[in-house]
Amino acid sequence: MGSPFRFTVRDAARDGNCAARLGVCETPHGVIQTPAFMPVGTQGSVKAALHRDVIDAGAEIILGNTYHLFLRPGDELIARRGGLHRFIGWDRPILTDSGGFQVFSLASRCVITEDGAEFQSHIDGARHHFTPERTVDVQARLGSDIAMVFDQCIAFPASRDDAADAMRRSVRWAARCRTRLHELRSNPGPVLVSNPGQAQFGIVQGGAFADLRDESVDATVAIGFEGYAIGGLSVGEPIDVMYDIVGRTASRLPANQPRYLMGAGTPEDLVHCVARGVDLFDCVLPTRNARNGQLFTSQGRLNIKNAKYAEDDQPVDPACRCYTCRHHSRAYLRHLHLAGEMAGGALNTLHNLAFYLDTMRRIREAITFGTFDTFRQEFLRSVSRLPVDS
Ligand SMILES: [Zn+2]
Repeated sequence: MGSPFRFTVRDAARDGNCAARLGVCETPHGVIQTPAFMPVGTQGSVKAALHRDVIDAGAEIILGNTYHLFLRPGDELIARRGGLHRFIGWDRPILTDSGGFQVFSLASRCVITEDGAEFQSHIDGARHHFTPERTVDVQARLGSDIAMVFDQCIAFPASRDDAADAMRRSVRWAARCRTRLHELRSNPGPVLVSNPGQAQFGIVQGGAFADLRDESVDATVAIGFEGYAIGGLSVGEPIDVMYDIVGRTASRLPANQPRYLMGAGTPEDLVHCVARGVDLFDCVLPTRNARNGQLFTSQGRLNIKNAKYAEDDQPVDPACRCYTCRHHSRAYLRHLHLAGEMAGGALNTLHNLAFYLDTMRRIREAITFGTFDTFRQEFLRSVSRLPVDS
């Protein structure tokens, strides 16, 4: 059985010299208007936010982390509860990563062989073994709408040889992931498949080396996936290198399939990379920074801890219509943050999510009206207006 996953490009930017496009992703749990931002729900929960508020902010899809859910509460337990959607009470689309990034960044004593990666849980020190096939099985049990292939992530800077080896291994692993998905679609055997319509995306790697990225695109597209991600960026490389790689890679990927930039980025990154043809984004910045008191606004970033907000009665962003901005002042949010009240993190998260998702809505609107280029210039001017608080 194939996947009911479908992607349709509806419109493309008509002004300026850019590759921005408007699309619709159809998944077993509903549609996603693209370009879209996916809030990160690592443990099956977007940190400090209720699903209701994530939906109200405008999210059509969230991301779950396979590594975390595999370790706790376990993919088999989740499958027995009917899959991740049922277990967490979220009936809209979910994308799961493969766990690769966390295995290489979070787990300790990670040993990589051609077969896969052996690592030690950061929770209890238990040893585990991820093979490409196993990460497909784990994601099948979770039942996300979009699953990712298992890839080998490298740190920046990496030597050309290291980047090439990891990229070629990632291609071999991607082929094994695709084979395993086809097996599960025809005969799942003992694996409890929670979402038979799950789609699978390949991941382009190759570090900061343009020719390795090209080789990765060709080899990954040759395997054939429902969509393609650009991985291994936003790991410390200069911002212009990231934008160049994104633009070059996106332009070489199939035009009729979705392109997902993994793990980036700032509000500016979203606009710059939509202009380069990216359809999907995820990033922990809006939620993580909210809990640390950093708020994204239409005028730039502000740090709510700053003493200058102690008696500031304005909302975080006078241009924002979110619950936080309609009801509370900077002074109150600063007080909550300094007092360590959980409501502070929750209200900040609500605002940052609203700002990110509203930015995506405005991007889609601008593409529809043929004014994306104007929007891009005004947005980038506007978000740099506020001097960044120390
Ligand atoms: Zn707000």
